[in-house]
Parts: sequence; structure tokens; C-alpha cells
Amino acid sequence: MKRLSILAWMLVLAAVCACQSNAPKKARADIAGHVIIIGLDGWGTWSFEKGDTPFIREMMKEGSHTLYKRTVLPSISGANWAAMMNGTPAESSGIIGNDAAPSFKPLVLTEHHAQPTFFHLLKQARPDAETGVVCEWGDFLNYADTLCLDHFARIQDPTGHPDAIVEESVRYIVDKKPALCFIHIDALDHVGHAYGQGSAEYYAELPLVDDRVRRIVEGVKEAGIYDDSILILTSDHGHEGTGHGGHALNEIETPLVIWGKGIKKNHEITETVIQYDLAATVAEVFHLEKPQSWRGVCIPVFE
Ligand SMILES: [Zn+2]
Repeated sequence: MKRLSILAWMLVLAAVCACQSNAPKKARADIAGHVIIIGLDGWGTWSFEKGDTPFIREMMKEGSHTLYKRTVLPSISGANWAAMMNGTPAESSGIIGNDAAPSFKPLVLTEHHAQPTFFHLLKQARPDAETGVVCEWGDFLNYADTLCLDHFARIQDPTGHPDAIVEESVRYIVDKKPALCFIHIDALDHVGHAYGQGSAEYYAELPLVDDRVRRIVEGVKEAGIYDDSILILTSDHGHEGTGHGGHALNEIETPLVIWGKGIKKNHEITETVIQYDLAATVAEVFHLEKPQSWRGVCIPVFE
């Protein structure tokens, strides 16, 4: 009788254990509910020391930064915005310039016939997550996979309407409170091409762009999501003379600033950072499983 009772208890225990192992694991909470990325086209590290960027400097103290993020080669916009979103170098993606289509057959394509971007990963895991792009350079959308975006907008005449990017971005963020949003500002690339690296005109544009960033961040606060957001400020390339595309340090060294929920404060990132690490870092925020084809690694900025 006693032996039977022990056996019965063992069976009950085994059943309980089996149930527990089959029970769904509790999902890890996201590091933050929102990631807002602001990309400054043509913002080279060369401009940092003398550049008048009070808001950006304040955010560097608020979070983590490096001035030595490396551009992928060639140091062209399309290749670099693409790498930030698809986590992959050009050898795999075939995106080596500003062309709408890859220059050679990509190793991996999604059902949308596009690279698996962080937008794709997020939408696959959570179809309801709001995703958006607001950009001044329309070709930016070639690399984002617009079928994974709930919203995308291009500012038609950014030079004539420099505030439109702020207004449209803030309107979208306040209205939709996106989980993942990428905003692209082109002004520094324009002055870089027109007047060159080191020019007075470039330095004159920097505080204006700094203020646009500040106003977009004010919009995140207005939306009521700032405390649950990670904000990222990045760039695709710098300039050498009035051009880029080569491998001079002025072209390939770009800043990265990341701040907000769960991000180390007043921290300089001393590890190496390459454009495609941005994708892996965003994936980490939402605990998204990275495709095998991705080569970026998570930047160690989390507390
Ligand atoms: Zn560019």
C-alpha cells in the first residue's frame, strides 16, 4: 500500500513536470517598446570636433556613442543605409551603390523579393507592430522593403522645405507611436557635395540639423513614448572634398549615438562598430531572431 502510494505520487509529479515543460515559456519583455532611428546623410566624424551640435552632444552624455563607426564600402549612401537595415555586407546583399536593385544576385531574398531587413523581422514576429520611414532621399525606400512598412513618406523638396521632415516625422510619431521608425535627413550631404568637407557652409548647416533632431525628439516626448523608447542617431558616410565613395577616413568614419530606455549613460563605445551592427542591435531590443545570413553583431550598449 505504502509502495503504491509512493508510485502514485511519482506519477503525479511526472505529469506535473511534463505539463510544465510543455507550457509556453514566458516571453522576455522587450528592452524598449519603440526604436526611433534618425539618419543624417553625409554626417562625417571629421565634422564633430568643431561642429556646433549642442543637442547631439547632450544626448551623447545621456547615452552611448562612438565617433568611429565604420561605413561599409563603397562609402555610398544606398549601400550603407541598406546595411544598417539588412544586417548584411554587400558581398551577400549585392547592394553596392545607389541602384534600386542589387548589382548581383543576393544570397538571400524574402517572399517580398527583398533583403530581410529589421522591418521584415519585426513584422514577421509581430504583424501588429507599427513600422515607418520618413525620408528626404526617396531612394532610401529601395532598401527598407516597403511591403513591411505601415507608413512611408518622402519629403518632395527638402531644400525648399527644410522643416517638412520634422513636421512629417513628428506628425507620424505622435499619431501612430511606431514600434520601429527610421527618419532620413539629407541636408548635410547636400552641403557636403556642394561645398565640400571642412567648408564653412557645412559647419553652418550642422546646428540647423542638430535643431531638427532636437525637435523630432521633442515629438517623441509629445507622443508620450519617450520613456519607453531607444533613440539612435547615425550616418551613412562622410565626405572627402565634395565627394564620397572611396575609403578615406573622412568618408568612412561616422558617429553613432544611442540613448534611451536600458541604454548605458555617459558611455563611449570602445568596441568596433560597422553599419550592419545597427540591424543586430535593433533585433536585440525586440528579441528578434537574426537570420543566419546576417553578419552584424549587437553593439554592447545595454545596461
Ligand atoms: Zn549619403
